[in-house]
Amino acid sequence: MHIRDILAKRRPSFSFEFFPPKSAAAVEDLYGTIVELESCQPSFVSVTYGAGGSTREMTHDLVLKIRETTAIPPVPHLTCVGHSESQIEEILRRYADAGVCNILALRGDPPRDWPDYDWSDCDFRHAGDLVRFIRKFNESGAHPDPRGFGIGVAGFPEGHPATPNRLLELDHLKAKVDEGADYICTQLFFDNHDFFDFRDRCRLRGIDVPILAGIMPVTSLGSMSRMAELAAGARFPAKLLRALDRANGDPASVEKVGIHYAAQQCAELLDHDVDGIHFYTLNKSKATREIYASLGLASAG
Ligand code: FAD
Repeated sequence: MHIRDILAKRRPSFSFEFFPPKSAAAVEDLYGTIVELESCQPSFVSVTYGAGGSTREMTHDLVLKIRETTAIPPVPHLTCVGHSESQIEEILRRYADAGVCNILALRGDPPRDWPDYDWSDCDFRHAGDLVRFIRKFNESGAHPDPRGFGIGVAGFPEGHPATPNRLLELDHLKAKVDEGADYICTQLFFDNHDFFDFRDRCRLRGIDVPILAGIMPVTSLGSMSRMAELAAGARFPAKLLRALDRANGDPASVEKVGIHYAAQQCAELLDHDVDGIHFYTLNKSKATREIYASLGLASAG
């Protein structure tokens, strides 16, 4: 189903993100997680892509497996850094042939082991270039849906480190949408004011596609350090840090605090008419299921 239809069908939307596991045992665990979360009837699930193509086949295989074995529409992430136009075209063609309807179009960051990456010499320099390329692919009629792939792009409520000029950053986001993006999914954030302000600034700039709020519950102190790495610049508000401090390092209490905090964030987002909530699941179901239950969504599906 095209993402425009998915988002029109249920507002707010609820969606979950997974990453392709590296070992066979982790793949089995992930299928267990997906089965557990299927009862939440998410609007879609998305699968990350290792920048530079490091998870190219694993992302592809996981997306197809979800499509074949569940009723949930899968949305593959695709990063363009380090890829040529012909490589991207091949990936799009395989997804189109398999009936995959949507793509989250990203630039990605050069992997750490490419310290001298030369941006001047590549087919794609920004995610907007990838959105334009997918739009042209769509216009060529290569996708079985006459509308082609639905396209999502990333947004950054706290800003993106490469563009400290926040006005310019919104120009770049607007350009991605004008190239053909159907929705924006945000980076994780812990202070809803950052999201509300970002959404207001988008609307003032004339960006009127749905904006899905990215939520990642802190489930352990280790996961918090990983988040700080992954979402460079993510701000952990004192309110959250104080609550975690009170847990005194006890893993079960840390998890409870993190889930409770994320549930409160979600409740406030829903009160403020959010278009959708996208859960970064880290391939686990517990936190998402508990947040669903505390919001009264478990039975609504
Ligand atoms: P862009 O939109 O290209 O933006 C990158 C920077 O370039 C920004 O500072 C922007 O302001 C600037 N910029 C954009 N256009 C122009 C222009 N025309 N001229 C000058 N500057 C410009 N990474 C992965 O490797 N795999 C994933 O699966 C993945 N999934 C993600 C999912 C979400 C929801 C989010 C929020 C991020 C994800 N990322 C993923 C991380 C993402 O690839 C990085 O944050 C990357 O640095 C930015 O990607 P982008 O698509 O926003 O790039």
